[in-house]
Amino acid sequence: MKVRVDDDACHGHQMCAIAAPEVFGSDDYGNAVVLIDGDLPPELEAKARRAEGNCPERAIIIED
Ligand code: SF4
Repeated sequence: MKVRVDDDACHGHQMCAIAAPEVFGSDDYGNAVVLIDGDLPPELEAKARRAEGNCPERAIIIED
């Protein structure tokens, strides 16, 4: 499973980083960045899906 953030949609709420701090950080503008290159470790997949579901801008894209 891979995860990415739509930079145009992200508004920098950082709810994703609260839900999954191992997966999401922030750039200099406060927008979300994905901290993990490539496939997520299986143990972080549920957290990433929770962050996707909680993102108010639907800016988190998960690719299975
Ligand atoms: S919750 Fe969504 S909109 Fe907010 S920082 Fe994270 S990805 Fe961006």
